[in-house]
Amino acid sequence: MTDSTPPRVLTVAGSDSGGGAGIQADLKTMMALGVHGMSVIAAVTAQNSLGVQGYWELPAEAVRAQLDSVLGDIGVQAVKTGMLASPVLVETVAEVLAGLDTPIVVDPVGVSKHGDSLLAPEAVETVKSRLLPTATVVTPNLWEVLQLTGVKVEQEADLRRAADAVLELGPAWALIKGGHLPGDPVDLLTDGTREFRFTAERHDNRHTHGTGCTLASAVASHLALGEEVPAAVEKAKAYVTGAIAGGFPLGAGIGPVDHAW
Ligand code: PLP
Repeated sequence: MTDSTPPRVLTVAGSDSGGGAGIQADLKTMMALGVHGMSVIAAVTAQNSLGVQGYWELPAEAVRAQLDSVLGDIGVQAVKTGMLASPVLVETVAEVLAGLDTPIVVDPVGVSKHGDSLLAPEAVETVKSRLLPTATVVTPNLWEVLQLTGVKVEQEADLRRAADAVLELGPAWALIKGGHLPGDPVDLLTDGTREFRFTAERHDNRHTHGTGCTLASAVASHLALGEEVPAAVEKAKAYVTGAIAGGFPLGAGIGPVDHAW
């Protein structure tokens, strides 16, 4: 036993029964990075390496009660949000987060790698108007940028314009994940004044399930450990790069990234 309490990080997201993404990826990341991970479950997916076979949202009351339980007793040093599924859940979570004085990382989850929708189309407006203004960092991929702002990124030169459009929705920082562009992956981080580009070598590994959840959780963990946003993102990128390098086959489809590297 030790009397030193690690920083506490909360994920508010969906469960992945296959253990590769969502809440399960978040908690594995937090454990690997030395923070105490906690989870408010917004939706439960039936999911494996082949895709999402179905999902069920929890009642808003159940999500609210989980938030109250964690925040009322344990407290948090950082929060990460992922799959929130519906307008009422986005609204419920945003309302609670707006009252917090801690870093918040919003992964504006839209669809899975398999193309399965994880957010009702009518929830997009609520994400824009209620959730993004609470965010310290928002981490959209290029598809989510298009969904949120209408900006289509086709080359690296478009990334800053996309980030500026995301910043207009109210987060303090935008981290645009350019991994789907041709060539080596590049992500752009900006608060509108400062700009950082993070590049990595592309790994020839298709087992990348859970990458987005892992990155956002790693950023939240490093913020809870006391890093400023640029350093937290740099360290989170290094963690995800290692996790992708170790991604392994599982089932008949796309396997998960590795948290035990
Ligand atoms: N399942 C859940 C519950 C998620 O939150 C996410 C992504 O955020 C996914 C699946 C999709 O993960 P991926 O796109 O890495 O396959």
